[in-house]
Amino acid sequence: MALIVQKYGGSSVADADKINNVARRIIASNNKGNEVVVVVSAMGKTTDELIQLARKINPKPEERELDVLLSTGEIVSSTLMAMALHNMGYKAVSLSGPQAGIETDSVYSKARITRIEPRRILKELEKGNIVIVAGFQGLTKEEDITTLGRGGSDTTAVALAAALKAQICEIYTDVEGVFTADPHIVPEAHKLKEIGYEEMLELATLGAKVMHSRAVELGQVYNMPILVASSFNDKPGTIIHGGIPMEIRNKVRGIAQDLNVAKVTVVGVPDRPGIASAIFEVLAKANISVDTIVQNASINNITDLTFTVARGDLDKAMSLIKPIAKSIGAKDCVSDSTLAKISIVGTGMQNTPGYASGMFKALSEQNINIQLITTSEIKITCIIAENRAKDAIKALHKTFALEYGES
Ligand code: ASP
Ligand code: MG
Repeated sequence: MALIVQKYGGSSVADADKINNVARRIIASNNKGNEVVVVVSAMGKTTDELIQLARKINPKPEERELDVLLSTGEIVSSTLMAMALHNMGYKAVSLSGPQAGIETDSVYSKARITRIEPRRILKELEKGNIVIVAGFQGLTKEEDITTLGRGGSDTTAVALAAALKAQICEIYTDVEGVFTADPHIVPEAHKLKEIGYEEMLELATLGAKVMHSRAVELGQVYNMPILVASSFNDKPGTIIHGGIPMEIRNKVRGIAQDLNVAKVTVVGVPDRPGIASAIFEVLAKANISVDTIVQNASINNITDLTFTVARGDLDKAMSLIKPIAKSIGAKDCVSDSTLAKISIVGTGMQNTPGYASGMFKALSEQNINIQLITTSEIKITCIIAENRAKDAIKALHKTFALEYGES
């Protein structure tokens, strides 16, 4: 008998019909002889509504109270799911995060799971229950309720799967899996049958927003296979796992995009030790995360320093950097907030020549100017004008023959 952890997102449990639909899917898995532990998110937009409600009462609610409030969203859906299963003649029990043994640190609204003591879950499974766990929450050592950050039910599910040594963690959502590119932009994009954890992290954080990245990281640490599939049909999804076949034919697995990019250039910076540290220290202190950083080779001891930030951070970054630029004797400080970051992602690329040049050629054929280039072990990224992003993604999808799928 296999133990399986399933997770259903908010849109999959948004109303009574949808809850009944999910209950039938849980039963189907149970009828195959599996022991099933289910993690649910709050129904539909419940979490947003609870946040709004709290703010109406108090514009700055205390974090402790807010976390207790938000945790109720998942409690509602877990109890209703248990009731739906009872109504269909199945034994089920709902457990809150604390009852399920999920222990966290005490950072309200973005707590991290420190330990899981799954005794109660195992006891309920032994009694023949389907166990429904409220996602997104846990308990601190001081016995206060915490939440794990928006989208955190994915993390609950993967952590539970690891703690229970489940065979697989199945994440059911409103998309059918992980695609080679955003299907809204590239209609020929196809669903990947499988993908590595690291590739998935790149695709997820760079745009294919399918799953919480913390959950993927956790999957990687515990080597827990994760299936991402639709809760609305029975089509096969994408399996995220560590054992990607050694010699896959197409080393580019997907194209990631990020349209939330702004660039800052400090022009004419004197080239001497300590300048970069002066600039990036203030940004770090202001909690602004800097992405791509490029410094030119200096000419006559003068160089340019360019970096990118999320667009929402641009104004703050500029107001912090301008005085520093002045004090270090830089000529100017300029910005551009109409940029996009496009990446080709795939594990095997670094040992195979030609991917970078293929990418640059495809972009040049579209007359797309590349402003910045960065590479890592598993991706090559170009920063280009935002209004050319779609053309770039389409051209790259074609250049690397992603429409033909894997075989
Ligand atoms: N309900 C929480 C949220 O909306 C957690 C989740 O959906 O995973 O962020
Ligand atoms: Mg969600």
